[in-house]
Amino acid sequence: MSDPKTMGQDIDAVMASMGLDPKQQAALKAAIKTEGKSRRTSPSEVEAKYPHVIKGSVRFDASANKQKATITCSMEGCSTKRDVFTSDLFQVRVCEEHKKAERKQAREAQKALLEAFKAKQAEAKVQPPAPEAGEEIEEDAQVTEETEA
Ligand SMILES: [Zn+2]
Repeated sequence: MSDPKTMGQDIDAVMASMGLDPKQQAALKAAIKTEGKSRRTSPSEVEAKYPHVIKGSVRFDASANKQKATITCSMEGCSTKRDVFTSDLFQVRVCEEHKKAERKQAREAQKALLEAFKAKQAEAKVQPPAPEAGEEIEEDAQVTEETEA
């Protein structure tokens, strides 16, 4: 007995190995199905998990079929609010402006690292390896901070 539409063979194999009788298997399958459908974190769960979420701001966005929340930027001294899908909360902690700033900082850190690497290579009189295809080094063409000694 298998229903390829909804369940793969794996779950049947797992349940068989658990020693469940057909009735228990059916109940378990139904429970799994329901769980999958209703797997939407409740607003209180969201608020408890993400302290930067404004209390009471979690709501359902019907047009996106997703839950949304309003956060307060986690940067000290910043109180900018921002709407975020709850599914993105784990990675969105700051406002748009601070996100940009963080990105810029990361880029500059990467650049500094590359410069340090190049300097080291030059010191050792070894040519730096050519960047491999697919290797992405974000360069901001606008930035021309030449601080050569
Ligand atoms: Zn901010």
